[in-house]
Amino acid sequence: MNTRYDVAIIGCGEAGIFAGYELMRLQPGLRVVTLDQGADIYGRSCPIVAGKVKECIHCKVCDTMCGFGGAGAFSDGKYNFTTAFGGWLTDFMDAKEVMDLIDYVDSINMKHGATDQVFSTDTPAARALEKKALEHDLHLLQARCKHLGTENNLNILKSIYETLKEFVEFRFHTAVAAIENLGGEGYRLTTDKGDTVECTYLIAGPGRSGAEWFANQCKGLGIELINNQVDIGVRVELPAKVFEHITDVVYESKLVYRTKQYGDPVRTFCMNPYGHVVAENVEGINTVNGHSYADPALQSENTNFALLVSNRFTSPFNEPYRYGKHIASLSNMLAGGVLVQRFGDLVNGIRTNDHRLGKSFTRPTLTAAVPGDLSLALPKRQLDDIIEMIYALDKLAPGTANYDTLLYGAEVKFYSSRLALSGELETALPNFFAIGDGAGVTRGLAQAGASGVKVARVISGRLS
Ligand SMILES: Cc1cc2nc3c(=O)[nH]c(=O)nc-3n(C[C@H](O)[C@H](O)[C@H](O)COP(=O)(O)OP(=O)(O)OC[C@H]3O[C@@H](n4cnc5c(N)ncnc54)[C@H](O)[C@@H]3O)c2cc1C
Repeated sequence: MNTRYDVAIIGCGEAGIFAGYELMRLQPGLRVVTLDQGADIYGRSCPIVAGKVKECIHCKVCDTMCGFGGAGAFSDGKYNFTTAFGGWLTDFMDAKEVMDLIDYVDSINMKHGATDQVFSTDTPAARALEKKALEHDLHLLQARCKHLGTENNLNILKSIYETLKEFVEFRFHTAVAAIENLGGEGYRLTTDKGDTVECTYLIAGPGRSGAEWFANQCKGLGIELINNQVDIGVRVELPAKVFEHITDVVYESKLVYRTKQYGDPVRTFCMNPYGHVVAENVEGINTVNGHSYADPALQSENTNFALLVSNRFTSPFNEPYRYGKHIASLSNMLAGGVLVQRFGDLVNGIRTNDHRLGKSFTRPTLTAAVPGDLSLALPKRQLDDIIEMIYALDKLAPGTANYDTLLYGAEVKFYSSRLALSGELETALPNFFAIGDGAGVTRGLAQAGASGVKVARVISGRLS
């Protein structure tokens, strides 16, 4: 079957959703199709979360990462109003435009039920925290932040889906296998089912789960790829009380520290007060992540956050993605999935086993994690950086370096190879746009959504 559309969107994560949403608002007469390898928002169910299996069984398409809502569907929706992190859109447009787009995406979310409560780093308490952090060489990044909450985030997506499906033709369980340039006549997508879709405008938003596939397609189409980074680290879990004086004030603190030993920047990322640690599957590799519910009844006693070390490579190596995958697969090989170790065991060179974990005062929220030894999985440099950062954080939040602080590994943030894009997020091929995490231009909900709105407006402008 071959069908022709005005616009085809690959992927309905945050970026693809907001591209579709803005096209619906600006050009309601267009024929738009979105193809996603995952399920719609109602049909996504991870077998671990459903209690059917204890460990990741590496489903061909991961329901946690793929489908309507993309990687963010089961996240707790921390929506950051900033250009300081969460993406690199300011490399393509000015900061004011990015902030306007981020505010605009938030306004759509609010129409679909998002909270109006905002945490700010611009309050007297937050400024006092910033000063205290500075005393210990920790740098608190400025950002307003909304916490939508895991359950609310899902409801917002369901509401957006119900609106959008009246306008966009969705093809779920449909992976795009190949992109073909029709040389001035648009683009042809061939799906894994053998169907083809032709379009005048193509928007690719394949996210992290489709990044490797997309990079290969771009290479084949002659589109230049620029090396990007990979962030490697662990997820830290500790009693929520240890960070309460911080999370009560700013909810999610982005703290950056430069290690004395190597001069590497290490940062906290994705902080989840009273949250849960979860495993995620990125192209068959188990990595770790976290989320937290807004409803107190669903919360845990722990806070979790990632500690990440950024790695950029220079010639001759230019595949940070593969490097990250290899490191994550080492901890998978040792533990059969996510590995967990007590901080005290790590610094004493002892493997955490079931018996030792059983003695821990901090109870792991990811019970499927297997106790082990992170020093056998993570490179020395990244591990030293992480240990030094934990001692630095201990000065701001005493208790961070406690023996029973849990470290899960590996947490790897893959940033897709960055495409060479114009200021309108267009590739070197006309009317072919790339957005979101899979294009290597964003790494968070706010900027991913913003990138989708941006290209929808560009396309609408060309049609008007
Ligand atoms: C557990 C978790 C928690 C997170 N929490 C937060 C948070 O609190 N705040 C925040 O800002 N960010 C968070 N993030 C990051 C955020 O989810 C991503 O930045 C965002 O989802 C990126 O949107 P995207 O549309 O670019 O990609 P994705 O959301 O990854 O969507 C890409 C979509 O493309 C589809 N796809 C890929 N390849 C193909 C193909 N070949 N054919 C068809 N379909 C394809 C996939 O199935 C997927 O549905 C979290 C991520 C995870 C995994």
